[in-house]
Amino acid sequence: METDTCNLKYYMNYFKNAIGHFKTIMIHKYWVYKYAKQLGIPCQGLLHDLSKFSWTEFSESVKFYQEGKSSPIVAAKKAQGYSLAWLHHRSHNKHHYEYWTDKYDDGTIALKMPFKYAVEMIADYLGAARVYNGPSFTIEDEYNWWKDRLEKHPPMMHKETKYFVSYMLYRLSTEGIFKINTSKFEHLYNSGYFNFDFEDIENNNI
Ligand SMILES: [Zn+2]
Repeated sequence: METDTCNLKYYMNYFKNAIGHFKTIMIHKYWVYKYAKQLGIPCQGLLHDLSKFSWTEFSESVKFYQEGKSSPIVAAKKAQGYSLAWLHHRSHNKHHYEYWTDKYDDGTIALKMPFKYAVEMIADYLGAARVYNGPSFTIEDEYNWWKDRLEKHPPMMHKETKYFVSYMLYRLSTEGIFKINTSKFEHLYNSGYFNFDFEDIENNNI
């Protein structure tokens, strides 16, 4: 009898967390869609992160659900040393720079991300920051966060993709997201134009 009660509690809690996690995903998707639309990739915005509904990702994230306040993937890695949800996620979603890495036994290389996925990654960053910081969030904050990250803990991302993200976040923070049509940068990105650093961007040397 005792076991039954415990199981019932367990399942009720699991169900509650499943609803909570579903809401977290939908709120994230809502904001990413909003930014993706403004950046000119509405379809990708709609399809963003659908793999989160796969059993591998969903079940683990419900198990390590953090009341929507922090990432269940981080919690899973902390608790068990790895996250199968994350391994599944990053290998099914091209907007993650980790998808474009290889040669782990030889120092790891990062491929230049195709333009449309680099733009989706920016929408993802903005959407995540908007949810995390609430309405007081500004793109300038995001640009400063990005600068700080590159300085202290640089991602294994292709140099040109990195500079493109820096450039876009700077332009978006100074000019506003509505005024920029990202598609006009596609040709520049593909031709290797984005090969400069913060000082060049902020001093308008490009
Ligand atoms: Zn994702």
